[in-house]
Amino acid sequence: MPELPEVETVRSDLARLACGDEVVEVKVNENRVFRDDPSGGRDLVQMEGQFVSAVMRWGKYLILLVSPDQNYRPVQQFGRSIIPSVDWSDHAVTAVLLHLGMSGQILLLGDRAEDPRHLHLTIGLSSGTRIGFADTRTFGRVLVSSGMGAGPLNEIRHLGADPIQDPCGADLAFDRTSGSVSPIKAQLLDQGRICGVGNMYADEILIRAKVHPRTPGTNLSNRDISALKRSVYRVFEEAISLRGSSLKDMTYKDVSGQPGMFQERHLAYARAGRPCLICGDSIVKERFQNRYSHFCPNCQKLGPCD
Ligand SMILES: [Zn+2]
Repeated sequence: MPELPEVETVRSDLARLACGDEVVEVKVNENRVFRDDPSGGRDLVQMEGQFVSAVMRWGKYLILLVSPDQNYRPVQQFGRSIIPSVDWSDHAVTAVLLHLGMSGQILLLGDRAEDPRHLHLTIGLSSGTRIGFADTRTFGRVLVSSGMGAGPLNEIRHLGADPIQDPCGADLAFDRTSGSVSPIKAQLLDQGRICGVGNMYADEILIRAKVHPRTPGTNLSNRDISALKRSVYRVFEEAISLRGSSLKDMTYKDVSGQPGMFQERHLAYARAGRPCLICGDSIVKERFQNRYSHFCPNCQKLGPCD
């Protein structure tokens, strides 16, 4: 599943390709991805004749803003204010919220002789660029709204701090982890606390911080919390610079169809049975809730507070 670094890579590519362009055509090929949208995707046609103002991200969500004013740009600020800073009172602004789900891909279609299978949405731009949303498993979702308080805002309102957009908020969220008995990995995966971390990056953050995935929050030392903060920024910044992680199933590729490279730097995820790159012990894979954790039992000991 694409996590924060993969979605950020897609966001920056999409912003470069689309910002300032007019939307000349919108095609909806499959309605399933609009299952949570009140209009069933019909409001997407409002984008035709309007201009792409911004491509934003919060956690694993992409937000495409279009406006009838070619020069309109939302005031983007770091921190929680990035979303409210959009002038939502201007009902002419249309916001399209995209979540890639398990296998969703945003693809540049312009140079392809044949469109990929499972293409659900196509947006044609005045530059000739065509952008597609393809998803083999259709767990991805698209919501569209114009005006304040409608679908997209409600969808993202519950999300916690994004570590890249809102590092101060993320620091506070990490400070609060010691107030809960929940295992630290469950807290990292809780999008209402810190958003953008999924199973893969949780394992990579935890091994670098030398914290066992099942450590109850109440057992975390101050050293652990400081290490987790350093680790989340280090992992995400490095993963973004390497354009995300592409595993063997290749469910994630960038908009040009190219894989990311951060999987080459993985210390734990998908490395079960291989030597830990820190100490040489074997990485183990263990059931964790409805998925698996990968960790080093030597570097990440499950013990009482230091
Ligand atoms: Zn180790």
